[in-house]
Amino acid sequence: MTNPIRVAIVGAGIVGATTALALQRHGVDVTLYSDRSIEDLRDAVPATGTAVLFGRSRDVDIDLIGESYADAPVSLGMATRLVSGEPGELTTLLDFDPDFHYTAAGVDVRLRAHDRLTEFVRAGGAFVVQPVTVGDLDAIAADHDLTLLATGKGGLVELFPVDEDRTVYREPQRELLAAAFAGLGHGPEVFAHRGGGTHNVFNLHAEHGELWIGPYWHKDIGASWSFLGFARPGSPWVERFDSVTDAASALEVVTELYRDYYPEDLPEIEKLTVIEEDQRSWLRGAVTPTVRKPVGHTASGRPVAAIGDTVLAFDPIAGQGAQTGIIQAAALVAAIVARGTDFTEDWIAEQFDDHWDARGHAAAEVTRLFLGDPDYAFVAGKLFPAAQEDDAVGAALFGLLSEPAPILGLHTDEDVDRFIADAKAAALVRS
Ligand SMILES: Cc1cc2nc3c(=O)[nH]c(=O)nc-3n(C[C@H](O)[C@H](O)[C@H](O)COP(=O)(O)OP(=O)(O)OC[C@H]3O[C@@H](n4cnc5c(N)ncnc54)[C@H](O)[C@@H]3O)c2cc1C
Repeated sequence: MTNPIRVAIVGAGIVGATTALALQRHGVDVTLYSDRSIEDLRDAVPATGTAVLFGRSRDVDIDLIGESYADAPVSLGMATRLVSGEPGELTTLLDFDPDFHYTAAGVDVRLRAHDRLTEFVRAGGAFVVQPVTVGDLDAIAADHDLTLLATGKGGLVELFPVDEDRTVYREPQRELLAAAFAGLGHGPEVFAHRGGGTHNVFNLHAEHGELWIGPYWHKDIGASWSFLGFARPGSPWVERFDSVTDAASALEVVTELYRDYYPEDLPEIEKLTVIEEDQRSWLRGAVTPTVRKPVGHTASGRPVAAIGDTVLAFDPIAGQGAQTGIIQAAALVAAIVARGTDFTEDWIAEQFDDHWDARGHAAAEVTRLFLGDPDYAFVAGKLFPAAQEDDAVGAALFGLLSEPAPILGLHTDEDVDRFIADAKAAALVRS
């Protein structure tokens, strides 16, 4: 019998935990290093994000690991509204509510990671609680055929230089406020004017940012709602987000935002309550969207690979981070098992280039579209009004959250016209 492949993974967030369990199920000998215990990963930290899996990534995740959250409320569309102006003199510019052509679900990443880690350890996987330092990596890499760093946006990223050619932004494009809330059900009477409890509610403001709220499965209470606020730098929303210091103040700020800018949704928002079981149900921050080189080196020059947020950090406006990390994990697991040995620096770089071509690049560009990047004004300027006219176009627009690849074909006005025409034609075929 040949020796099993030995893989070290550093970081037990959703990407590290998923990769570890999937590799283990293929007979790979995995050692997973985490700076926190399994219990602390679940209960002593906020979720690193909402991590809605839209369509394709959800399917990939189910194929790779299985479906453990069959009771989680899914979302099937995106009730979208764009307004402009200040409270009392708001103008609605767009209002549309397409169904997706897929199913989306947001499950607390702490729960997903916890459940995967628990299964990994139960099946005999080595879980080492240790904050790994750059100094530790040499011995870890020497002891394994391949070392993967899934340490998120902050941990050990200095080993991986920023890829200047692939990185577009040098600073965050939004200030973020995320929070999960209880108190509101998911029946058709909820947000009846906006998709009836099974649609995400996405409110955009032309000058200030975006507010999104969608069905969520929270680690302690299960069915709940997840709110995400995105404030453009310099907008008055930044100050409101900055005043949040706990879950209760997060709820106050969220309620005031809807009262001032989206009063038609206020009756639902006023029913939301803080999740008493989870004092870490909220998060504030900002992400500089960054692409890093996938290969780093330990002190003695051994190559190590970056995966997940460590190599690709997205602004969450288009929900691409966990989705792309899971898709990367699935491809990497298959490639590791197929190769079996000799995980050279060139091989690691090749895997990432494949991932960039298959998903990462398109995911980054879709994020730019939803950030309102001026380079995509020619796309947004046609696509959003066309979505207002025809739900088929709205569905295609939000289809990009699941399958972002078509955005790489949008270079001219004619390309956008073709995308719109194709969406309408596809709807005719379906009907
Ligand atoms: C507000 C918000 C909303 C989001 N919404 C979505 C969404 O809807 N859909 C989506 O797909 N994505 C979304 N994302 C992105 C998604 O949450 C992240 O991409 C994903 O959680 C990253 O997972 P990860 O495992 O790569 O990193 P992390 O979750 O950051 O995990 C890294 C782990 O490594 C550990 N670690 C760090 N350093 C060390 C060390 N030196 N030694 C040992 N361990 C270490 C950390 O403690 C952590 O446990 C959102 C993000 C944010 C901020």
